[in-house]
Order: sequence, then C-alpha cells, then structure tokens
Amino acid sequence: MTDDPVFQQEFLPLFRQLIQNACVNTGQPDSGQEDRSITTLLAFFAKRGLVGDVYHAREGRGNLVIRVPGTDPEAPSLMFMGHLDVVPAQAADWSTDPFGAEIREGQVWGRGAVDMLCWTAAQAVGFAEAVARAPGGRFRGDLVFLAVADEEASGRWGAQYLTEHHWEAVKADYMITELGGFFIDTDRGPAAFCTVGEKGVAWVRLTVRGTPGHGSMPYRADNAALKVAEAAYRLGRLRLPLRVSKPYRSMASAMAQGRWERVALTTGWGASWALKRLFQRKPGMARFLHTAGRQSLSPNVVHAGQKVNVVADRGELLVDCRLLPGTSREDLEALVRKALGKRLSQDFQFEITDWFPSNLSNKDNPLYSAIEDLFHKAHPDARLVDLFIGGVTDGRFWRARGTTVYGFTLFSKALTMDAYGQRIHGNDERIDLESLELGLGFFRDLPEKFFS
Ligand SMILES: [Zn+2]
Repeated sequence: MTDDPVFQQEFLPLFRQLIQNACVNTGQPDSGQEDRSITTLLAFFAKRGLVGDVYHAREGRGNLVIRVPGTDPEAPSLMFMGHLDVVPAQAADWSTDPFGAEIREGQVWGRGAVDMLCWTAAQAVGFAEAVARAPGGRFRGDLVFLAVADEEASGRWGAQYLTEHHWEAVKADYMITELGGFFIDTDRGPAAFCTVGEKGVAWVRLTVRGTPGHGSMPYRADNAALKVAEAAYRLGRLRLPLRVSKPYRSMASAMAQGRWERVALTTGWGASWALKRLFQRKPGMARFLHTAGRQSLSPNVVHAGQKVNVVADRGELLVDCRLLPGTSREDLEALVRKALGKRLSQDFQFEITDWFPSNLSNKDNPLYSAIEDLFHKAHPDARLVDLFIGGVTDGRFWRARGTTVYGFTLFSKALTMDAYGQRIHGNDERIDLESLELGLGFFRDLPEKFFS
C-alpha cells in the first residue's frame, strides 16, 4: 500500500468520514441531512485556504460550490460533481457496520464506497491538490467543485434545484461525475467504461374503464382487469428493433466474444441469438447492452377492480419507458398504441406523468482526450469503452443544458463491472485501496491535462 501522505492523512480520513456521516436518503424530504458532509468538506477545504458557497433548497440538505476562476474568461470551464447522499443499508445483511468505514482486507467497507463517495472524496482532495499545484493557484478556465444533496431520490433538493435556480453558480462547459471506470475482460484484453450518455425517461400511465356488474355472471362482461392484463402482457412481450448508435457499437464490440458474436451484436444480423449467448455468460452485461440499443417499455404497476364479487370497472397500468435520443412524446404514444393494437388501444387513455429526454455527449473534445490520456497512463494494456445507460444520474441536468458530461474515474482492475453491479445499492459495498488511490490521482491530474 502507498505511503503518499496526502492519500493517508487527508484523503482516507475524509472518505471514511463521508461514509460515517451516513447521509441516508430514503426519499423522504427530511432524510439525507447532507449538511453533515458539507461541514466535513468545508473543514477540509478551509485547511487548504479554499472557500465556497452553500445552497439550500431545504433545511439540512446543503449543496457546496467552490469555483476557482480562470485567468482567461474565454477558456472553457471544468466541473467535478459528486453527490453526498447514499441509499439505506440493512445492517443485518452486512458482514460489517455499513457506516463504520472499516478498513479490512485492503478495502474500505461502507455504504457509499462506490456510489459515489469514492468520487466525491477524490474530487475534493484532487481539486485542492490541483489548485495548489497550478501556477498562481489558477488555471486558464474556471475549475469548479460541486457536491450535491438528494441524488438518490430525484435531485429535487440538489441538482435539479441548483440548475433551475442557481445556474450562474453551477454552470460549466465540461463536467466529470459518476458512473464508470469499472473493468470487463474482453477477448481483446481488459477494457473500462466511460459513461457518455443516458436514455430518456418517460413514466406513462394508461387508464381504462369497464362496466361494473355481478362477479357471478361474467358472460361477455366489460372487465377492466382483463384489459389491463392484456395491455401489460403486450407491452411486456413487445420486441423492439435494435438501433445501432456509436456508443452501442462500442459497448457491443467490447462485450462480444469472437468474430460472429461481434458481427451479430454490432450489425443486428442475428443480434437476438448473440444477446442470448451473452446473457448465458454475463446476464448483467446483456441487460446493459439490450437497453442501450433499444427503446424499452416495462409495465411495472398494475391496478384494477375494487372488490372480488364486482366486475372491474376501472384499471390502471404504469409503464417505465426508457427512450433513445430523438424520441418525442408523440413517438412514444404511437409506439405504445401500436403495441396495444387497434382494438385495445381505443379503450385506453394515455398520459405521460414524468419526462426527461435522452442526452449524449460527443467525444471530440479536450475532456475526453484528457480522460483517455490519464487512463492509458494508468492502464497501458487496456481500452476505454463507451457506456450509454438506461438509468439516470445528476449529470442529465447539465447535459440537457449543453454541458459535455462524462461518468468516469480511475479504478484498479479488481473493480470489475460485476463487482460494481453487486455492490452499488447492495450489501457489503466496498472499494479497494488501489482504486481509491488511482481515483485521487485522476482528479488531481485531470485539470492540468484538460487546461493545457
Ligand atoms: Zn450515485
């Protein structure tokens, strides 16, 4: 293990304290209480002579911004963004205290270790180190550190609030945040992922009416339960065509094994055969790839009827839709109605209750080049692969406003996609010390690379 004093004496205590602060976000407005970690961060930055502004949308749920202005107002700005909250943990299911931040077997154990306090701590210490090393303490463009509350719910008290009400304070041309950096073994050697975009999210409510009647006489009854059941089945079984985009092709090419699988997954010829093979080998990976290449509709909540002896007179179906770039609300309604079929579709009211469009950053820019350089320096034998995710991060609020956003940090090869997938929101969340040290070095060195 390293004897770098910054890692030992500043990074590790800060990282462990962020875990121990246990800013657990249950989704309740007064959970999280991220101010505990804001206090921890302010104390750390004060020792480095750095001050920032704290923004509150709700008491106890602070967001911290530190902006070091650049010397050239025309130069692009770079932001590090991390969240402070974590999801709940059931102590009984863990082999250690989830908020103890114990160091055991070369790993730090605790809720938030990989999602995403390892980023937040490395960004804080890396930011302070980068500023200390910069001539005159400044770079060409603004360097910004941002730690937010409430990522694990909706960003209502964090990223959404800041981008809607304090854009001048939190704007940036480039941003680096979660998630990515984890490794897979490919048939061409090791590869790690960098998140370049996210699918759009649309939550759809389908409602239908029936005619009430006595449950003892179902002959030719107008039963809303049957309509909802049929709609759920049709939407759930729908097979949507593959749309090959640049990030999809990058993912497929890395995940495929052998020439035929690669051809099938990247061109669409025999893609379902190849996806099945991938699923047998690596189910988690197959799900990532499947959703990256298609629209997806998941009917997840089904309600109908009031009482067992009354024919159901109303029904409701909630569908989680994840959409590719360029999909409009009208496109989505047409897709859903086509899946229901003409007869069934007539009965249903269609309503979008939540909508956030897909967003994607291109790679022809100084931030991506800087990431690639630092990655190849740390892992000369490995490749960097795009990740286009079905889920969302707070990065979406900036991408939607034109910021180029990547999800990335440097990890060790021990942190594989499988390991990451099991630990994020899972039991025994933990991270190896080598990954932590690589992450710190990444955020320390990134500004100099980016601004040079
Ligand atoms: Zn996260």
